[in-house]
Amino acid sequence: MKFNNVDFDTYFKNYPDEKGYFGKYGGSYVSPELQKAMDEITEAYFTICKSSKFVSELRRIRKEFQGRPTPVSYLERLSGKLGNVQLYVKREDLNHTGAHKLNHCMGEALLAKYMGKKKVIAETGAGQHGVALATAAAYFGLECDIYMGAVDIKKQAPNVARMKILGANVVEVTEGLATLKEAVDAAFAAYCREYKDAIYCIGSVVGPHPFPMMVRDFQSVVGIEAREQFLDMTGELPDAIVACVGGGSNAMGFFSGFLNDPVTIYGVEPLGRGAALGDHAASLMYGSEGIMHGFNSIMLKDENGDPAPVYSVASGLDYPSSGPEHAFLHDLGRVKYDVISDDETIDAFFDLSRMEGIIPAIESAHAVAYGIKLAKTMKKGSVLINLSGRGDKDMDYIIEKYGIR
Ligand SMILES: *Cc1c(COP(=O)(O)O)cnc(C)c1O
Repeated sequence: MKFNNVDFDTYFKNYPDEKGYFGKYGGSYVSPELQKAMDEITEAYFTICKSSKFVSELRRIRKEFQGRPTPVSYLERLSGKLGNVQLYVKREDLNHTGAHKLNHCMGEALLAKYMGKKKVIAETGAGQHGVALATAAAYFGLECDIYMGAVDIKKQAPNVARMKILGANVVEVTEGLATLKEAVDAAFAAYCREYKDAIYCIGSVVGPHPFPMMVRDFQSVVGIEAREQFLDMTGELPDAIVACVGGGSNAMGFFSGFLNDPVTIYGVEPLGRGAALGDHAASLMYGSEGIMHGFNSIMLKDENGDPAPVYSVASGLDYPSSGPEHAFLHDLGRVKYDVISDDETIDAFFDLSRMEGIIPAIESAHAVAYGIKLAKTMKKGSVLINLSGRGDKDMDYIIEKYGIR
């Protein structure tokens, strides 16, 4: 299938190119020292990911440890309420640790093991990526250093406890505002010192090449499974698919299974409290081209051109940019990007809980809200939503801020 001169029959062979570009987006903008480490990872990835031993080991882990394949569920009561459109969800909430993030963490940690590394390093904001990586490190017997801002450590006590129980070393970062940005800087600095023994594990389809490609490839299991399962259940492809976009890993893995199909694809960004800068984190909708954290993409900038402060009710979505492949698919028009507000998200959070018995992560509730909204504009057809994670981590916050409806 061709779309604006890009041939999706051969898409994965051509994108990214060997320098890590999706069109003009992506690449690797890091110090020469760090570039050496990135080149080492790229080379190892290309060799190892083709070895049948690596592939069969990852396949076994997904089945026996993660509990894959995760099912696709038909939302019978919610669909019934909406009319003639059928809603389905891909259940990444049932993946071990309760979200899609473990898919790429297990891949990254297995790669670390094959490369002979002793340690994995990462930063974390809300702690979700840290918990997933600490899980992978425990499984493989790797050391694990998670850099986290002092402010976030206070706010995310349950995830800090989880990481410690799993044996990870949580490194407190006290510089500057002591949140995610400072944690990224500290983790990168540690990686520069330790790259001979350690590997940096990025938490989404962002950062310098090869991470946007590698994380997409590890997450593509979600899209491949979902496509096959949906065909099995209905005999057809869905008319539309929907996923939420923070950095963009759950969306990219899910979308990759359908890019070459006659399926309309929607990426949902958080509108937060509204469209003013600082009130949302909808980088593709309102941002412009720029370089941050080692890659070129579309980002939200302040008046100095630096990454702007962002906000979303979902802490996993409040990132001032998205992966370069999303910027590319946005420009091409292959994926349509749109926004959902905090309020619409909370409504969907309760709808899915009350009508289907599934408590979604607040991040995932953005996609559910959009799927419901979309269904109301369609006369018939089907919508498949990626439910990136479960909402256990969000319940205290929801009850405190919104009460029980
Ligand atoms: C982290 C997270 C996200 C956002 O990350 P992406 O890279 O955009 O997928 C979405 N949903 C859940 C449940 C998460 O934990």
